[in-house]
Amino acid sequence: MADLPSECNIKVLCRFRPLNQSEIVRGDLFLPKFQGDDTVVVGGKSYAFDRVFPTNTTQEQVYNTCAKQIVKDVLSGYNGTIFAYGQTSSGKTHTMEGKLHDPHQMGIIPRIAEDIFNHIFAMDENLEFHIKVSYFEIYMDKIRDLLDVTKTNLSVHEDKNRVPYVKGCTERFVSSPDEVMDVIDEGKANRHVAVTNMNEHSSRSHSIFLINIKQEHVETEQKLCGKLYLVDLAGSEKVSKTGAAGSVLDEAKNINKSLSALGNVISALAEGTKSHVPYRDSKMTRILQDSLGGNCRTTMFICCSPSSYNEGETKSTLMFGQRAK
Ligand code: ADP
Ligand code: MG
Repeated sequence: MADLPSECNIKVLCRFRPLNQSEIVRGDLFLPKFQGDDTVVVGGKSYAFDRVFPTNTTQEQVYNTCAKQIVKDVLSGYNGTIFAYGQTSSGKTHTMEGKLHDPHQMGIIPRIAEDIFNHIFAMDENLEFHIKVSYFEIYMDKIRDLLDVTKTNLSVHEDKNRVPYVKGCTERFVSSPDEVMDVIDEGKANRHVAVTNMNEHSSRSHSIFLINIKQEHVETEQKLCGKLYLVDLAGSEKVSKTGAAGSVLDEAKNINKSLSALGNVISALAEGTKSHVPYRDSKMTRILQDSLGGNCRTTMFICCSPSSYNEGETKSTLMFGQRAK
């Protein structure tokens, strides 16, 4: 698979998962028709992206095509963000995390962890690296630290350079890919403890893994910083107006609001002409402000189900991705 051109700072990639067993048993049809490597046709309408990954694309191919370059850029001092957007069960977590300890099935985050340390070991030995990670989620507009369960409502502040950050969020220094994996495992375990149904919960909250890289030359004392946000978004599905009530409806409204705030920011950035980018409309876009657009590397995965049963949601997911083009 060829590399993507690197001049564009916002990339939108679309990935379709295979039909699952219950969809096959139900007799669902396989909807997408793939054309070339950047177009998919669903329900007679065609959607073009920077790349479309058909169902048989491996985790390694996905990584090599789009995330590998971001690691190099972050090590050169750029900031970046990688998102996964889509309805529940469309493959967001598979893409971002995959099976963490399986070399074939692991997703983008563990591959990034390995790649960062591989690069560092190969770099100038006069460079000193300080790598720290944080892991938190945003649920009902509250920021919860996944590395410290006592921190359930953190706030967004600005540092002296007016760069927004999550105040008081746990930061862990890491010095190997295994240590990164340990932090992810710990965060996931904490997330499980706090909720009764993990699948439902993860589909209604955004989870954010932050990797911060500082490097300093031991002789010249020259410093370089880059950070990378890795975001597994809440499910984008619409909750039926008749079926949902109370807290479920509140959650749905909240998710809707934060996803449309994100869509508005990305589309303002993609247009490139707008002087006002509405970062302040949601907590997530505030946090990501200095890692989105501009001089940053932004990649959005549009994750889709291929099943005829999900046609409506798939089309609105594809439309969301088109707004960023
Ligand atoms: P989401 O995070 O969007 O709710 P998941 O990533 O959990 O969805 O995916 C739902 C199920 O589909 C999981 O069992 C996952 O392993 C499987 N799956 C998702 N994408 C793929 C893919 N590209 N290839 C094979 N299985 C996949
Ligand atoms: Mg998920």
